Amino acid sequence: MEINETKDRIVRATAANGMIRAFAADITASAEEAHERHGTSPVISAALGRLMAAAAMMGSGMKGEKDLLTLMIRSDGPAKGLTVTADSHGNIKGFPLVPDVDIPRKAKGKLDVGGAVGPGTLTVIMDLGLKEPYSGQIELKSGEIAEDMAYYFTVSEQTPSAVGLGVMVDTDCTVKHAGGFILQLMPDAGEDVISALEQSVSAAKPVTTYMECGMGPEEILKELLGDLSLEITETLPVRFYCNCSHERIAGALATLKDSDLQEMIDDGKEIEVKCHFCNTAYKFIPEELQVILDERHGK
Ligand SMILES: [Zn+2]
Repeated sequence: MEINETKDRIVRATAANGMIRAFAADITASAEEAHERHGTSPVISAALGRLMAAAAMMGSGMKGEKDLLTLMIRSDGPAKGLTVTADSHGNIKGFPLVPDVDIPRKAKGKLDVGGAVGPGTLTVIMDLGLKEPYSGQIELKSGEIAEDMAYYFTVSEQTPSAVGLGVMVDTDCTVKHAGGFILQLMPDAGEDVISALEQSVSAAKPVTTYMECGMGPEEILKELLGDLSLEITETLPVRFYCNCSHERIAGALATLKDSDLQEMIDDGKEIEVKCHFCNTAYKFIPEELQVILDERHGK
């Protein structure tokens, strides 16, 4: 296990005697790594960072060693879509379909994530090691991602939720801050808890405003739920991590048609295949492709 040297982390908490479940995350270094690996434009760095923050928090609630959460947006805007995954150990990764979308900013210089994403769908796939993975889908509300996630939790999981997600991109295009929070009402919450939470949500500032003041996930939760007997229950380190390998990519090549593989072999050149998630390039020589083809035909 590698040692995580960044401050990226998820903090899980409860409040109001367990009637509220809360998460907050700082994934700045992971979002910057995604930006570097995929060469994303600022608006796509923001969209990807927001979705990764949401996945990191949501994934941290899974219990199994091999559980995997996938959040997938497919849309009609210039970004076309994004896919991210998170496991229960704080490993996150993700990729945009179009890394270099450049559209005008909104008022006050805000990145127009909703404009880049546009109308579309959000699909949530949770592979919990059961026979069939759980999957749910909603129409995007705004494409701003936080609002879409809140709508997903409320409609698909019947858990009223407030979601804040934010990414601040610096003038040199690096990710300065990326993080978020999720506050969820449990089914037995009484009117007093509901109205107290509503009050604190309506007073909440954008996540990056808190982070710009030097606040970490713990302080953000204290700011939002400090008056509701907040109890921090767990802190989990987060990192951008992809489990791809030469062998796994060979497995993907093995799904190609015979004729496509044969064509590459006949070309006689080394081919390069990049992992979607982390953009790492893997090289294959024609002899390796021949082995894949031979194995398929039991030679
Ligand atoms: Zn990879």
